[in-house]
Amino acid sequence: MKEMMKAVVVNAPGNFGVYDVEKPTCPEGGMLVKVIACGLCGSDLRTLRSGHHRVKLPFTIGHEISGEVVELGGNYSGNWKIGDKLAISPLAYCGKCNFCLEGKYELCNNYKEIGQHWKGGLAEYIAIPKEAVQLGTIQKIPDGLDPVHATLVEPLSSVVNAQEAGNIGLGDVVVIMGAGPIGTFHLELARARGAEKIVVADISDERLKLMEQYQPDFLINSKKEDLVERVRTITDGYGADVIITANPAPEAQIQAVKIAKKGGRILFFGGLPKDNSTPQIDMNIVHYNALHLIGTTIFSPRHNRIAMKLLEGGKISAEKFISHTMPLENFVEGAQLALAGKARKVVFKP
Ligand SMILES: [Zn+2]
Ligand SMILES: [Zn+2]
Repeated sequence: MKEMMKAVVVNAPGNFGVYDVEKPTCPEGGMLVKVIACGLCGSDLRTLRSGHHRVKLPFTIGHEISGEVVELGGNYSGNWKIGDKLAISPLAYCGKCNFCLEGKYELCNNYKEIGQHWKGGLAEYIAIPKEAVQLGTIQKIPDGLDPVHATLVEPLSSVVNAQEAGNIGLGDVVVIMGAGPIGTFHLELARARGAEKIVVADISDERLKLMEQYQPDFLINSKKEDLVERVRTITDGYGADVIITANPAPEAQIQAVKIAKKGGRILFFGGLPKDNSTPQIDMNIVHYNALHLIGTTIFSPRHNRIAMKLLEGGKISAEKFISHTMPLENFVEGAQLALAGKARKVVFKP
């Protein structure tokens, strides 16, 4: 008799549930991990809604994982042992491409992800492959950090990568376009890095209201107010040093170049919908104002380690961030809440 477990399975776009599936066996050189918690993020919501080009359905997703090691595979040569509690971010780099050889793992040509290439963490158990053990983004959870909070290491790592690329620091006026969970991370990190003033803009009063507790210097509803004008006023006509697009709206990218100071940096953080990803940005503004357009994607093990320290040290507040913690059995309910925009961050516990 095969051992069974509960897992979320996405059958087709819009069709998903919690099922009894075969419990994975421990892979050679890898680990079997009992999941403690797994977060659901914006990209998961997109997969639930419309599938994902790198995910072959039916499949178990989930890539913001905390868990405990329960078994080690044959010829295992990793750092962790049975009983260790780990924060498992999903990346496994090839280690062989020029980017990896230069230490720029976030640009790896052949990286694979748990939750895409390998089955994800929205399950009672997860098989962690040898590749992720050898060159991936797995860390031991520090004693003082709640494993539920440690699921945030993954999304925070991307934010760390972006702000490093944008070199946010002392004296900067930073405009964050998007008051969702990722916008919150950007706000707290920009503050930790020494930003002078932080402006948060969004088109939803509800999201802006939730942002109040983080006390940005300015909260602007860009549907009701002219964001370009407001930023000009705030900056004595100069514009902002850094603009971060933390939303999936092409219009925000068009606007971003208009509110940047000369020589300013624009961090294109949020991806755009596949069929609407060519915004009409006025490139003459980019040219004449000498703007830096900066794209970033995923992260390296170094960013992942910084993210853990930020959470452990409380520079990023995990507590406020997670709006719902629910049993895995209630996945459909939790996912519906998130899909309807009624939950900020949902974390599931098997
Ligand atoms: Zn994610
Ligand atoms: Zn590589």
